[in-house]
Amino acid sequence: MECVFAVFGQITVMERQGRTMTEAVRDQDSVAAEMEQIAEEIRVCTKCDLCKMRTQAVPGDGPTDAALMFIGEAPGFHEDRQGHPFIGAAGKLLDDLLASIDMDRSQVFVTNVVKCRPPGNRDPLPDEVQTCTSNYLKRQVALLNPRMIVLLGRFSMEQFFPGEKISKIHGQPRQADGRMYFPMYHPAAALHQPRWLEDVKLDMLKIPALLEEAKRITPPEPDEPEPEQLSLF
Ligand code: SF4
Repeated sequence: MECVFAVFGQITVMERQGRTMTEAVRDQDSVAAEMEQIAEEIRVCTKCDLCKMRTQAVPGDGPTDAALMFIGEAPGFHEDRQGHPFIGAAGKLLDDLLASIDMDRSQVFVTNVVKCRPPGNRDPLPDEVQTCTSNYLKRQVALLNPRMIVLLGRFSMEQFFPGEKISKIHGQPRQADGRMYFPMYHPAAALHQPRWLEDVKLDMLKIPALLEEAKRITPPEPDEPEPEQLSLF
């Protein structure tokens, strides 16, 4: 299956060099400080109309040395009120899924494609996605540089694999740009569809072995020819 990473535009050689250098001399304090700087920008962001309807923006939570990153769609009602991702029923399911592989939130970084709640939990609009991902999610991914990214739901998947169907590619890992990508159904969707819930539980169980495999992936060299690109970059 072809990998096409569309939404974030292509990773430039300079970005590759920057990330490789970061890996070599990574200073976790400065990474954490930079991630908090991004979070501060998100909290006061007015770059798209979603800022007009939000209670508060939801930058994302988790350790900045996490090897595993989860990307959902957008904050919902509870996330908008509390300022943290995956609160409420979907968040409880995510916690249960993590527990099924002996992990918890303290080990993973969790965020969304867009950082402000769309009114009525509608899908984010293309310009909202473009604005938010180019300003924030792309930077968060580059800074965190996780070994593996779990794409929770159709919307998250589409940022990296446009034109694909989550029903066809969920549970199928893909390697690109020196890391592992793993699409899954969104926990909120799984709560409403028992068949998807079973798929989510089974897909989650694949993560520990895939994460170990992802840690052995050799990052691309700065002067290496551009590989197949994911949308986000
Ligand atoms: S959704 Fe993203 S781009 Fe839009 S206002 Fe919120 S933080 Fe800014």
